[in-house]
Amino acid sequence: MNDPRLPIPDSGRPAAEQFVARHLSHLVCDVDRVSGSVRFRGGQTAADAALAAFDVTGYASRRNQVLPESDRGASALSPYIRHGLLTLRQVWDHVVGGPSGDVAKFRDELMWQEYARHWYLHHGTASTRGVRREQAHVEPTASWDRSMACVDVTLDELERDGWLVNQTRMWLASEWGVRRSGAWREGEEHFFRHLLDGSRAANRMGWQWTVGVGSAKHYGFSRSQVERRAPELCRGCELRSRCPIADWPDEPVREVAESPAGRRTSSDPVELSSVRSTGVEPEAVWLTAESLGDADPALSAHPELPVVFVFDEPLLARLQLSSKRLVFLVESLADLATRRALEVYRGQPHEVLACRPVAVTFAPVPGFRRIARRVAPAVVHPYPWLVTPSDGPIGSFSAWQRRRG
Ligand SMILES: Cc1cc2nc3c(=O)[nH]c(=O)nc-3n(C[C@H](O)[C@H](O)[C@H](O)COP(=O)(O)OP(=O)(O)OC[C@H]3O[C@@H](n4cnc5c(N)ncnc54)[C@H](O)[C@@H]3O)c2cc1C
Repeated sequence: MNDPRLPIPDSGRPAAEQFVARHLSHLVCDVDRVSGSVRFRGGQTAADAALAAFDVTGYASRRNQVLPESDRGASALSPYIRHGLLTLRQVWDHVVGGPSGDVAKFRDELMWQEYARHWYLHHGTASTRGVRREQAHVEPTASWDRSMACVDVTLDELERDGWLVNQTRMWLASEWGVRRSGAWREGEEHFFRHLLDGSRAANRMGWQWTVGVGSAKHYGFSRSQVERRAPELCRGCELRSRCPIADWPDEPVREVAESPAGRRTSSDPVELSSVRSTGVEPEAVWLTAESLGDADPALSAHPELPVVFVFDEPLLARLQLSSKRLVFLVESLADLATRRALEVYRGQPHEVLACRPVAVTFAPVPGFRRIARRVAPAVVHPYPWLVTPSDGPIGSFSAWQRRRG
């Protein structure tokens, strides 16, 4: 077997790209052009700077603006939130004192993120099975039409930066899943491969919400949204006089979709909110991609211990992510290495960590429980929830909000 230990990545974009090209290129979908996001840098330092620069003023009225970019009100904090470089609580607290309407709207969106995490924790992989929206009667034309400027410019941004505002995520998902009758799981995968904030929780929920999986409603995409949110796209579009989305899309063909039945995974509040220890002293902190920040509970509880990160080779080989996602992780590790003793490996976590007692933070994804069973950590710290999960309705955001209220 190859030595699973990798060198510590140096700081800086070129070093991170070289690291991915050298050690991880067999695990990415764009092996011939390994590169990082043009817009985002990974790491705690970049996350802290992005949060410090974010002013919530005007968020409510401008969060859906697409172009010009200078008019956007979206925070662009999602890649850092996704990887635990910023906790939802830190971001929630950051906007204290802002205009009340903007603060309320922004915090509502943070709650959507928390809801998506609870939803995915609850249903796990069943979140795809029970809620299929079949399109058996429609021929899928499953490719985007890049002669439409609204599609082309938006896909470019996704593939270049690994990020989109919520509005253009809905445009693309609706264009693919509603108007062109593409399979939503394929669209979800394309986003997941590129988005730096790509998570099974929020991405899957976003796709299902947009295309109307398990619901009588869907989001319709037409020229009027583009004219309103990004007028320059229509002005420069070669199809402006024969726009294929001038009218609202037809109602999609629907089949009855069942919801995922029952509770699939434990939402035991004790398991999810307390430190669980075997009594063995940990000798290292195992960091996962869900929780890479300095505020990670296991990391901050054991400041004297070395930190271990494992690029899960079989998982990444299956996922075939775009290289910018791995460059973002490598930049985050390089940044962490300036403050903590770090070890980086490529392999299977349970093999790399065999016989080594570790402390880790719970991650709200089904794979964590599966892998942790084999790693058998000495200490598991609770995930830094904004709201601790509990039993209760999880079928809709409003029902979930009500049961908390
Ligand atoms: C088809 C589709 C796919 C999506 N995929 C993802 C994904 O993989 N990862 C992801 O984090 N979000 C996803 N979203 C939700 C949302 O689009 C992004 O969170 C948001 O655009 C990120 O940009 P921002 O940080 O500027 O958001 P802001 O508007 O500044 O919001 C602040 C934070 O609130 C949370 N948030 C905002 N809107 C939502 C939402 N609708 N659902 C859940 N959380 C939200 C995010 O953590 C975001 O960073 C998806 C939405 C759709 C429609």
